Amino acid sequence: MITLSCPWCGPRNVTEFAYGGESGARPDPATATPQPWRRYLYTNANPAGPVTETWLHRAGCRRYLVVERDTTTNEILAIRRPGGAPSTSARHATTGRATEQRP
Ligand SMILES: [Zn+2]
Repeated sequence: MITLSCPWCGPRNVTEFAYGGESGARPDPATATPQPWRRYLYTNANPAGPVTETWLHRAGCRRYLVVERDTTTNEILAIRRPGGAPSTSARHATTGRATEQRP
């Protein structure tokens, strides 16, 4: 079982979450043309290795969270709130869990 640790709710089964895609800089709505929006919405780099993703805790607090995950091992490297500083999370390679460390 893979467990994700929601920054608000704590550890939960991954089935409570929805994948929201790779995180990236959102185009400025005031100045962006359709091409940057198309690239932002539909194009993913899909790298092998560490990637930063957006997830939604759909069956819990319904808030978005940022997950750093290694796509080759499915290891969760860190989880944090959107806009938050990168956390130094404990790694749980065998379960795919990460626990946010708070100061
Ligand atoms: Zn939550």
